[in-house]
Amino acid sequence: MKPAWLEGLMAESFFAACGVHQNCRKNEKNIFCLNCCQSFCPHCLLSHHPSHPLLQVRRYVYQDVIRLDDLEKLIDCSYIQPYTINSAKVIFLNQRPQSRSCNGSANSCYTCYRILQDPFHFCSLSCKVNYMVYQGENLSQILYKFDHSDFSISQFEDLRVDMADEGGHVTPSSILEGYGGSKKKRGLLMLSFGNRRKGAPQRSPLS
Ligand SMILES: [Zn+2]
Ligand SMILES: [Zn+2]
Ligand SMILES: [Zn+2]
Repeated sequence: MKPAWLEGLMAESFFAACGVHQNCRKNEKNIFCLNCCQSFCPHCLLSHHPSHPLLQVRRYVYQDVIRLDDLEKLIDCSYIQPYTINSAKVIFLNQRPQSRSCNGSANSCYTCYRILQDPFHFCSLSCKVNYMVYQGENLSQILYKFDHSDFSISQFEDLRVDMADEGGHVTPSSILEGYGGSKKKRGLLMLSFGNRRKGAPQRSPLS
């Protein structure tokens, strides 16, 4: 059984215009409440319950994506191929339509057969979840109890800026900075990026 938030997230049509704020600019529904299990627009945030945990959905190539940093606090994202947009890793929410079919020799998504980089088995969150459901596996083993403070309303203060700088390049994350390096600690973001190890602290030879 999928939890209600996951069911809602996978079924929701994001980036449709908000019915309440039809006459406002930037009224696309790109915020998902993990408590109410529904989406709404940034204008709705003002009247939304302030303590509800919220997830921001972004758009790339007309598809819904979620930052890996956010999503991996909710669900185990291993084997889902991440993409890098404006230096942030994202996961596609749903499988994308594709014209070519896989020739059988390449590594491809277990569910939709999209060609993937080597260590990955799924192109999107829904392909992983659907595969597990299809296999009769228990989803609770990949679901995490999340900390509400990680999804607080304060993270939306920069929403307008985020919406302005769309259009960055997407490249599949390289193997080197792939999934293993993504569980970085807060505050160490810059240092741990790319999983580079620093050697012993250097001391001046004169001291
Ligand atoms: Zn809510
Ligand atoms: Zn609205
Ligand atoms: Zn897929």
